[in-house]
Amino acid sequence: MAKARAQTPKGFRDFLPEEARLRESVIATLKEVFASYGFSPLETPAIEYKETLLGKYGEEADKLIYLFMDRGGRDVGLRYDLTVPLARVVAQHQNELHLPFRRYQIGPQWRAEKPQAGRYREFWQADIDIVGSASLLADAEVLACTLEAVARLGFTDSKLLINDRKLLDSLGITPKLAIIVDKKEKIGLKQIEIELSQKAGKAEVKQILRKLKGAEEPESIKNIRNYVRHLGGDPKRLVFNPWLARGLEYYTGPIFELKVGGGNLSVGGGGRYDKLVGKFAGRELPATGFSFGIDRVVEALKETGSLIEGEKVASPEVLVAVFGEKLAPASLKVASTLRSAGFSVEVYPDEKAKLDKQLKYADKRGVSWVVIIGPEEAKKKRVTLRDMESGEQETLSLSELKKKLGGN
Ligand code: AMP
Repeated sequence: MAKARAQTPKGFRDFLPEEARLRESVIATLKEVFASYGFSPLETPAIEYKETLLGKYGEEADKLIYLFMDRGGRDVGLRYDLTVPLARVVAQHQNELHLPFRRYQIGPQWRAEKPQAGRYREFWQADIDIVGSASLLADAEVLACTLEAVARLGFTDSKLLINDRKLLDSLGITPKLAIIVDKKEKIGLKQIEIELSQKAGKAEVKQILRKLKGAEEPESIKNIRNYVRHLGGDPKRLVFNPWLARGLEYYTGPIFELKVGGGNLSVGGGGRYDKLVGKFAGRELPATGFSFGIDRVVEALKETGSLIEGEKVASPEVLVAVFGEKLAPASLKVASTLRSAGFSVEVYPDEKAKLDKQLKYADKRGVSWVVIIGPEEAKKKRVTLRDMESGEQETLSLSELKKKLGGN
């Protein structure tokens, strides 16, 4: 028989249980915080029409969209982020949604990027957005929620870099030049000068750099910081950075980038996009939002050794061993009783396996307790409980067992 190739496509990854568990707890924590700020869940398809996606992000980004024809000959593509689908949803369901509409959405995105550390072709984002408010109060709500979420994830040193696209506009920095300016931290001032010179005259480049060096914090950011403070967020975490521009073209106002790990790890970004929804709705609907990069958050958690509350529900607490076909039903009943009592229980899925093999498996799996129901126990309607750490065993009734394991 020919062997099928066991390999993920380039830039795509599998998440084995330990990693998947961490990702799940990050997502659960984010959902909880998002809901506490009044964001409702939204789900949209992985695929959108090509015309929905193109022309919203900017020339460079458009090249990274996965486009293809479906079986019916329709031009479609995989979504590139969650913001453009949101804009489409608000336009499409205008009569059902109440404005200002605040929603969260968590799911995978696809970008045909060159894979590298922290950059994948499939990655997850967790977004919060408020559509239908031009007020900086909306931006402040988004940022207060972001700060709370990042704290709940276990990061103690988060910084939210903040700038305003309007400031860049007023300095004569067009979105195309802004995308170069944004790379200052990555490539340095010298390289920025070189790249800017390819798009603008020498005198203009000099002037842009001089203006950026002397830029003062705009009123918009002062106001957002003030609102964030009243919302219980630490205003010192908001750091004005005139070089911040963000890569996507749809931003029109305040823009944000979330850093952790002493400012080295960028785990999310966002900003105000007042013109995007209008492209679908036919009338202008201002909006603002923030996007956590789940993959980056998980990497940063591992790198900084930060821990999420309640993260360690590693393996099941109890393994119920089986003792041959005849006694298996007794084991299954005990498993069912323990599950109903709220325990995480695994039944060893092979009636013929030797007990020794089952215990070895429990040990590898990190299970705390093994419940054994052999012929003696079955006859007396009792079970043997083995403490996997100490190796001690005792024989108990079912109600004693539940008590011992911490149930009622
Ligand atoms: P963006 O939608 O480009 O503003 O990105 C928002 C966040 O998504 C970034 O801060 C990253 O955390 C994450 N992100 C963007 N692109 C990728 C990628 N290719 N791989 C992993 N994470 C990404």
